[in-house]
Amino acid sequence: MRGEAVFSVDEIRKDFPALARTVDGKPLVYLDNAATSLRPVQVVDALAEFYRTSVGSADRGAHPLARETTARYHEARCAVARLIGAAEDEIIFVRNSTEGVNLVAAALPTLRRGHIVTTLANHHSSLLPWAAHGKARHVGLNKDGTLSITSLKEALTADAALLCMPQVSNAMGLLMPVEYAVEIAKRAGALVLIDGAQSVPHMPVDVKALDCDFLVFSGHKMLAPFGIGVLYGKREHLDAMQPFLLGGGMIESVQANRFTVKPPPGKFEAGTPNVGGAVALATAIDYLEDIGLDRIDNHVTVLARSARSSLRAIDGLTVYGPESDELVGSAVAFGFEGLAAHALALMLANRFGILVRSGYHCAEPFHKAVGIPQTVRASFYLYNTSEEVGLLDHALRHIQATIM
Ligand code: PMP
Repeated sequence: MRGEAVFSVDEIRKDFPALARTVDGKPLVYLDNAATSLRPVQVVDALAEFYRTSVGSADRGAHPLARETTARYHEARCAVARLIGAAEDEIIFVRNSTEGVNLVAAALPTLRRGHIVTTLANHHSSLLPWAAHGKARHVGLNKDGTLSITSLKEALTADAALLCMPQVSNAMGLLMPVEYAVEIAKRAGALVLIDGAQSVPHMPVDVKALDCDFLVFSGHKMLAPFGIGVLYGKREHLDAMQPFLLGGGMIESVQANRFTVKPPPGKFEAGTPNVGGAVALATAIDYLEDIGLDRIDNHVTVLARSARSSLRAIDGLTVYGPESDELVGSAVAFGFEGLAAHALALMLANRFGILVRSGYHCAEPFHKAVGIPQTVRASFYLYNTSEEVGLLDHALRHIQATIM
């Protein structure tokens, strides 16, 4: 598509029709990628082509066109497996990261013994399923929002059943020390579930190299449609887990009151699956791989770090997070004292066409633990440019001049 050597943002931007939109007459500057990404024409076309031509459902029906749909669903699973270095039967299609975490929380029998370790940097969706479990223990944070390694070690005692943490935190886009956490968790005998919702979209992630037991991520944050996500699980754990939903598609044989279940992944995919979503996700993966996730990672990191350094120089603006940029992955969180985060986000949108997220970013315990208010978050992706970082900087200086 674009050749190995070049990462041309100008070329990439042509694939995203939504970038041509305006906000109240101003050109759109989309900096809310941690919430959801835009979609390239290739993905939209793949989804449309699927619905224009496909006949029949996956894994249901022997007629040749249903078999074709089954094959496309299988190919999509293979694309996901390739992306994260897993085997196909370790990939469960779910709606999103939230459903993936809830599936593990509901279906893994060993969780009934021991406690669950989460971190206060977790998104609500990788926090609440364990809170409901009643035996969650939370790894604390340092004042700058980074993970406390001392607290991590203290929490991972011999009775820990599972550690669930993000690879990149969503509130500030911080890179979390997952490799080290996996090592400590394994020493304590705990399983590890990595929330990859903010990492898989823009960096290479290999589940074998990470040696995690589970990984979840959402298609809609990585160029794919809403409603398709992934749970990866090591085959041995998937074998030990109970099915989460019961119904068609997940059984080998059924008597009135008894049934035998299929092996994974079928065991966890009761009901007619979202084949179109899976096919479009595979197209999104091809698109990302074609550019190169390491290059996307580099691009996004450069933008986030340059935003942090330029925004830090604005009088009265607080840029949250650690002093050093080393741990900054993909976003920058900031705010003016005395100006509500939502009000600032609205000014950026209405006056400058810059779309960002404001609030607690589904990580209220994180903000309370670190003692910071609701923030505005700008988050970057492959189609963002250094000019857009400049526009954000310019807009904030303008706002600063009007409110101070
Ligand atoms: N984890 C993290 C780190 C996230 O950023 C998000 C989405 N903001 C989620 C989980 C939940 O993703 P979804 O809503 O797609 O399930």
